[in-house]
Amino acid sequence: MPLTLTSLGCASALPTKENYFTAHVLHIRGRSFLLDCGEATQLRLKQMGISLGSLDRIFLTHLHADHVFGLPGMLSSMHMLEREKPLYVYAPKGLEKLIDFYFDFLNREDSSFPIIHKVVEGEEVFPVYEGDTATVFAFPLLHGIPSYGYLFKEKPVRKSKPRSVAYCTDTAPFPELSTWVKGVDLLFHEATYLEEDIKAAEKYKHSTARQAAQTAKDADVRKLLLGHFSSRYKDIHAFLTQAQEVFPNTELSLEGCVFTVPRQLT
Ligand SMILES: [Zn+2]
Ligand SMILES: [Zn+2]
Repeated sequence: MPLTLTSLGCASALPTKENYFTAHVLHIRGRSFLLDCGEATQLRLKQMGISLGSLDRIFLTHLHADHVFGLPGMLSSMHMLEREKPLYVYAPKGLEKLIDFYFDFLNREDSSFPIIHKVVEGEEVFPVYEGDTATVFAFPLLHGIPSYGYLFKEKPVRKSKPRSVAYCTDTAPFPELSTWVKGVDLLFHEATYLEEDIKAAEKYKHSTARQAAQTAKDADVRKLLLGHFSSRYKDIHAFLTQAQEVFPNTELSLEGCVFTVPRQLT
């Protein structure tokens, strides 16, 4: 019963020749959840062999362009494919404007499927969705606009310890975060900057690789994935080096990588 996180991209505000915007697909026992939807996400899904029809729930962390501008194009493709089943989009308040924009260009009467915006708003860790394979919680991050991380907890299966994955982007470090993602099997955490640019990280409310690693260490997670790298760096492997000094079990969530969370027998 596989649980995997597939990276569709690892860039931050500007894409590069190699890196698309940060987005991921989490597969939990046959269910697929899309995490963020920057420009070209639907193209990346196609390249990775993930069909649009397999997606019923999209979780958007916040409404900065690099996390949401892929949505109108993807909705349009779903319409062209004559999708009928509803699409649920979990996102902070304000997404309505983007969905209205899409409808304005589509001719409101014509959408082949309903789009249901589930507003994500709350304090500390709160549930947003309960499905047959996972329960999803959200928690506020520390960024320039309302931003939420997501915590996916697998529903218990016989003889296996339920697995968990947390997704945190974009955010500056803050003490509560490590308690909210305590002990997860896989933590995806943004690392926009290297340590030498910590001032920029503070100014724009992002994290350095080292800060992300410190959160992973404080939370005692099993594995850390880093992404959302600033385009200012030519060699992104420095992110790995700096993080591993604090938290050795770190990998870069490079596009095309598929990370498996193995089962642990009880
Ligand atoms: Zn971003
Ligand atoms: Zn942002």
